[in-house]
Amino acid sequence: MSIFCRIDDKLIPLYRVLWVAATPHFCGESECNCEGLYEITLDGGSEPIWARHDEKERLIEQIEDWQQR
Ligand SMILES: [Zn+2]
Repeated sequence: MSIFCRIDDKLIPLYRVLWVAATPHFCGESECNCEGLYEITLDGGSEPIWARHDEKERLIEQIEDWQQR
């Protein structure tokens, strides 16, 4: 199993993930490109990563598998 999870166009190392949003982003701003996406914060990361629901679910699955090894 890979230590990386692909989110959008990025390969995220599982051990760098600090937290994953449990609910989709909503701020109501018309300019927002992240509406409905899930925020992922990386350890030492300057800006959040935005994942679709299926990407977020797969990331969590991969982290759980990785922790159980
Ligand atoms: Zn927003």
